[in-house]
Amino acid sequence: MPTEYDNYVDGQWIESERGGTFDVRNPANADEIVGAYQDSSRIDVETAVDAAVGAQESWRRTPGPERGSVLTATGDALEDRKTEATETLVREEGKTRSEAAGEVQRAIDIFRYYGQKARDLGGTAKAASGPATELYTKREPLGTVGLITPWNYPIAIPAWKIAPALATGNTLVIKPASAAPNSSRILFECLETAGIPDGVANLVTGSGREVGTPLAEHEDVDAVSFTGSTTVGTAVARAAATDLTRVQCEMGGKNPTVVMPSADLETAAEIVGVGAFGTTGQSCTACSRAIVHEEVYDEFLEALTDYAASLDVGPGLEDPDMGPHVNASELESTLEYVDVAREDGATLEAGGSRLTGGEYDDGYYVEPTVFSDVESEMRIAQEEVFGPVVAVLPVGDFDAAVAVANDVEYGLSASIVTHDLGQANRFVERVEAGVAKVNEKTTGLELHVPFGGYKGSSTNTYREQGDAGLDFFTSIKTVYMNY
Ligand code: NAD
Repeated sequence: MPTEYDNYVDGQWIESERGGTFDVRNPANADEIVGAYQDSSRIDVETAVDAAVGAQESWRRTPGPERGSVLTATGDALEDRKTEATETLVREEGKTRSEAAGEVQRAIDIFRYYGQKARDLGGTAKAASGPATELYTKREPLGTVGLITPWNYPIAIPAWKIAPALATGNTLVIKPASAAPNSSRILFECLETAGIPDGVANLVTGSGREVGTPLAEHEDVDAVSFTGSTTVGTAVARAAATDLTRVQCEMGGKNPTVVMPSADLETAAEIVGVGAFGTTGQSCTACSRAIVHEEVYDEFLEALTDYAASLDVGPGLEDPDMGPHVNASELESTLEYVDVAREDGATLEAGGSRLTGGEYDDGYYVEPTVFSDVESEMRIAQEEVFGPVVAVLPVGDFDAAVAVANDVEYGLSASIVTHDLGQANRFVERVEAGVAKVNEKTTGLELHVPFGGYKGSSTNTYREQGDAGLDFFTSIKTVYMNY
């Protein structure tokens, strides 16, 4: 029997009101159940929101340094369990051991970062027009917030929502993705070790429909922070907006890397390859389009194809270059896109198949895949695949490259490989993306800078991470004090 885990509500580990669990499986070995989680309902959401509302007043009055100490201690508790958290993450999501260790370290760093921020939430002093008057602004918590997270960064994304929400004095309810709730459970165990007061942070597992929607709609939830697909995010934004709840949705991407003739092509192939195949292409910022100047198209394509073929694919715990897809449906979706790309006339240059035989039969492995001769209107160049597939599109000049880069509904991350500084600056100015990079992969961002998208990648109201994380979770109050 798999180990059964409970919801964490009002400082207690409790079963869902209606009973029943769902299984979480290892993507590298689908027979292995890595945990059974509560299949919760709307009633569990009600109970958790009530607990969070009940804890609001005392948590917002808890001095910032004290709140910060709880966050720092959570980071410390996670560090003490780093190996276990890393292996848990690999077992539920499929990342390689190195990728998972990096993600767990990121979560530790996030808790420590916002632990410091809780001591210095910002605010400004201004000069008032009248005499003997202080004029300043201060941040205030929103109240109770709902957090809904995806499976692809199952510890870092919950961390980068939970930590700023708590640092600023909010209480919360989080619903993690059902494919990978183990990492959130470990975070909550660490919060408990760190002494989080009862009711301040609550964890409810279950489906999007039964738990996510009621959380987004709940009238006592003062803000909703969602990360996931554009389809679901749009529904969440609508649900939250019905009672004017503040909402932030960070969603999908179709991220381009432009390669210009001045680029070193081996470097360019690595920048594209790491961006496309790292985390099995299951990153919102994954590079899924290489937009390449025709002068260097053939040479670049050969370098990228060699790169893809050189990758070692296997179970994440053995720390190969690339792990499996998270589950069967994600694998099937990627393979369907391979068929669609072929039917639309793209040329398969590398990969394109499920890996089978031996240990591959136990999991959801697909080859790193490269398509050439892709045109911008093809589905493979327009839709988020969320797998290790990159489409290579030829262009005649820089203006065409920028036009193709912007010719999608998404706008999350974009990069260019060039040694022409003017071109690099023009790209940064003209590309429609929340993150623009020069001579860098589209993936990866430090925790102290704002992260978010343009267009269909985001509600584009607030950013996450850094001080932007504080902005979302607070209201600004302007204070006049005449003495
Ligand atoms: P998803 O949209 O399917 O699910 C995200 C979360 O929403 C899950 O917890 C899910 O259970 C929940 N949910 C599903 N239906 C719901 C509903 N009707 N109401 C409320 N909640 C609901 O996304 P996913 O498959 O977990 O994650 C992959 C997606 O996330 C990709 O599109 C990826 O680009 C995106 N993503 C974006 C970012 C970013 O910062 N922009 C980061 C990581 C992942």
